[in-house]
Amino acid sequence: MAGNDSVVVIGLGRFGRALALELVDEETEVLGIDENPEVVQMLARSLTHVVRADSTKEEVLRQLAVHEFDRAVVAIGTDLEASILTASLLISFGIRDVWAKAISEAHGRILSQLGVHHVVYPEHDMGQRVAHLVRGRMMDYI
Ligand code: ATP
Repeated sequence: MAGNDSVVVIGLGRFGRALALELVDEETEVLGIDENPEVVQMLARSLTHVVRADSTKEEVLRQLAVHEFDRAVVAIGTDLEASILTASLLISFGIRDVWAKAISEAHGRILSQLGVHHVVYPEHDMGQRVAHLVRGRMMDYI
């Protein structure tokens, strides 16, 4: 399924799940990967494919043809080791567009050093966006 318009999303917690479901809504094919069987079961009917697997294992990712994708998202946050090992494998596969979520500046720096093309900080970025919204509301009262 590694077509032009398909994306592999690794880690289907709150962030990865929302991202994967939004992509599917926009007609993008999504291969979701998570090691938690309950998460996989919950999303079985919503994503194009969902597989239970440990994304830190190179053979496992190759069996799933992850190396054939052009776009991949690492949406693992709390488990720093899993995030870094997974991102490193995706980069070593030569995937053109690798995105990864970071939960701290240090985490983001390591991901960038590995060669991750786009590092996102969902909580930090959302905090900034909400600050703008709150400020917008305040301006309404001035
Ligand atoms: P969120 O805030 O998005 O809910 P989080 O930042 O707390 O998530 P984690 O709990 O680290 O992130 O991971 C998100 C998902 O990634 C979880 O569903 C977890 O099962 C999955 N995950 C963690 N490690 C691996 C791994 N090695 N292989 C596959 N999936 C993994």
